[in-house]
Amino acid sequence: MHQIIFNLYQINPFFISYLAILVGVCVGSYINVVCYRTPIKLKSELINSSFEVLEYFNIKINKHKELSSETNQISDKRSYCPRCNKPIPFYLNIPVLSWLFLKGKSACCHQKISVRYILVEIIFAAVYGLMFTYFDFGNAALLSIVFTFLFVISSVDLKIEIIPDPLVYFLIWSGLIYHAAFDSADMLATLLSIVLCYFIISALNVIFRPLGKGDAIGMGDAKLFCASAAWLGLFGLAWTFVFSPFVFFCFCMLQKRRRMAFGPSISYIFMSLMIIKFGLGIEINENLLDLAY
Ligand SMILES: [Zn+2]
Repeated sequence: MHQIIFNLYQINPFFISYLAILVGVCVGSYINVVCYRTPIKLKSELINSSFEVLEYFNIKINKHKELSSETNQISDKRSYCPRCNKPIPFYLNIPVLSWLFLKGKSACCHQKISVRYILVEIIFAAVYGLMFTYFDFGNAALLSIVFTFLFVISSVDLKIEIIPDPLVYFLIWSGLIYHAAFDSADMLATLLSIVLCYFIISALNVIFRPLGKGDAIGMGDAKLFCASAAWLGLFGLAWTFVFSPFVFFCFCMLQKRRRMAFGPSISYIFMSLMIIKFGLGIEINENLLDLAY
């Protein structure tokens, strides 16, 4: 397999880029489904667990229970139209091409398909294509995986202000394993910064919670900060902590909103620092600001 790719690479040096664009489009298409279904699934899990609490106190609300179990089944079905629930045949489910062929309308009920879906596919194609063109294969693969996880985390957080635990735990553990295998010099500092980060944010929340308006920084966001520490070490965490509120402020200004999820801002800085470290090969340390000069 490796040899085949190498031979094709000899014939056309952009072969890897083309392949990356193709893979990117397909991953983007799959991510569309994940980003649509995960919030529904998480919400119904939340509803179900609150029902359990209500049942514990002998408070009965039966009417909505059926509703939540119905949404529970959603992620087990194969591709279907979100409006009329008809299954989508595979030949109408080809990324980008199907959308263009159907002129942005569904074949079953002729409803408009949001341009957001095709936009996500194009973003993934572009990001994967650029990474595999400019960075070496291993680092490009690593950055693409982290980008994909951060994209889903941000999308779900924007929709329902929850960061899915399995995704953020994957980022933390994979970062730690990478650190231990290739960069074990500052392993202790990294572990300490993860633990400290989690405890400081928990403590801040305990202090500020009685003042009202909920947590200052959600525990999902705290885990995302921990993931940045797992991959980028103490200084990576520090820079993520310093820059993400600034990005958050910009996002709020752009959206003209006072309140929105914090996850996308953390993800934005986390991903930028990942590209600086693994793509450009610049070590993340206390002199990161030197980059500007
Ligand atoms: Zn339909």
